[in-house]
Amino acid sequence: MNPRQPTAEAVAIVDGRFAWVGSSVDAKTLYPNAADTLDLGGATVLPGIIDAHGHLMNLGESFLKLDLKGVSTPQEAARRVKDKAATLRSGEWILGWGWDEGKWATQYPTHELLTEAAPTNPVFLTGLHGFAAWVNKRALLVAGINKDTRDPENGKILRDVKTGEPSGVLINRAQDLVASHVAPLDLDSVKIALDLAARECLRNGLTSVHEARVTPIMLQAFREMVKKDRLSVRIYAMLDGANSTLIDEWLKRGPEVDPQHRLTIRSVKVFADGALGSRGAALYEPYSDATETKGMFTTNEAALSDITRRCFGRGFQVATHAIGDAANNQVLNAYERVLKQASANDARLRVEHAQVVAAADIPRFAELGVIASMQPTHCTSDMPWAEKRIGADRIKGAYAWRSILKTGAHVPISSDFPGETLNPFYGIYAAVTRQDPQGNPKGGWYPEQRMTLEEALRGYTIEAAYAEFEEKNKGSIEQGKLADLIVISKDPTKIAPSELLRITVLKTFVNGKLVYSSKAAQPGVSARVQP
Ligand SMILES: [Zn+2]
Repeated sequence: MNPRQPTAEAVAIVDGRFAWVGSSVDAKTLYPNAADTLDLGGATVLPGIIDAHGHLMNLGESFLKLDLKGVSTPQEAARRVKDKAATLRSGEWILGWGWDEGKWATQYPTHELLTEAAPTNPVFLTGLHGFAAWVNKRALLVAGINKDTRDPENGKILRDVKTGEPSGVLINRAQDLVASHVAPLDLDSVKIALDLAARECLRNGLTSVHEARVTPIMLQAFREMVKKDRLSVRIYAMLDGANSTLIDEWLKRGPEVDPQHRLTIRSVKVFADGALGSRGAALYEPYSDATETKGMFTTNEAALSDITRRCFGRGFQVATHAIGDAANNQVLNAYERVLKQASANDARLRVEHAQVVAAADIPRFAELGVIASMQPTHCTSDMPWAEKRIGADRIKGAYAWRSILKTGAHVPISSDFPGETLNPFYGIYAAVTRQDPQGNPKGGWYPEQRMTLEEALRGYTIEAAYAEFEEKNKGSIEQGKLADLIVISKDPTKIAPSELLRITVLKTFVNGKLVYSSKAAQPGVSARVQP
């Protein structure tokens, strides 16, 4: 990822940084007495992967919750809930995660299946992307939700059309009505969850993660873990912009840029809208498959301008989630207004996802210097139904990485785990093929938007480093930079795209320290792929 030295055979690491990058022969003469030498036997080394948008806490929690990822029918989910209920006392919560609120949106399940499976336990099952929850009767009762309960702002209680009774699915902010009755994890459990998630990251070759919504307890856990040297993944934290107390507090004290590059707090995450699958993304025109709705904004343009101005003025980056074309437009408008008034440049304001963008807005990312932080696997997961939602016209500006890259904008890429797998090679595969792991559709879905392998690798390394103001310290194997690197089983430049999915991480180094080593850490040996 260093254009002046695109490939090398050997590196020397001193005090956690690359002291030298060059040939094997020179390595032996320059460093004859190295304290440690490691011969990788010709295996491929890449800079440590930087996932520019992920959720460590949700990943960690998913290890603690009932795992419903990949469950194809509501009946199967209910069966698992029933098994779980058999192990609990009545009244204990059953928390689950991972049913697909996008795929199941054609016909959402109702509470009856879960009510039958666990009549005396409240059940709260969060969707894969966190934009919908499926609950049982007991949970509705505990939360006091009935047919007279009004929809909260920016949320929707799905109801039985005949009776008006809540049917058991809560969209966007309506989930809070139930979530607020679930006891939050204590600090120790948060640390356990984050630790499990961080290990999973290292196993997958991620050496840095942009944590896309940080709450006060997570922050406390991160701090204590860093202090005790119990967190090897580097964290770039986006503060939860919905928590006004947290934001006020941080605006008072200003950003915290870690000189050790382990935990930096200088970004604020804001939500402009919801998701496309659950029809919560804000569109200009109605949904093609539900003409009564245009989705919904979760923050209006004036509020977006206001929070951007306040954060930017105090040296914080703003990263706003925007999926629909109307949401993307409003975020760009808000950013533009603030940038025009501000004298400072290098704001690096971000749009998270930039998923459906109107043709007129595509060049504005580059013009304004706004970063389009995109997720290739969202495209390949959504492609079976995305065009139904928005039609043949708007789809042209959806997941349109190449159109945005062509204008010269920065496009870091990421997985948005745990909604998608955090395995970066799945992301790279999706970026270069626009196909599902089975190779469908043939030739790729809107293949004109495919990235080159180099662009995808840049997106996961140097571009992601840029998005956190760290391109001078991370994102390439280059003299002087932090020694974060991974050893992988195959050279991605020498294999067919379909083979990318078989790449496994053999070793992960952070700060020059080995933090993960696969059991089958032999070059060329393909360990089991971890989706
Ligand atoms: Zn996210």
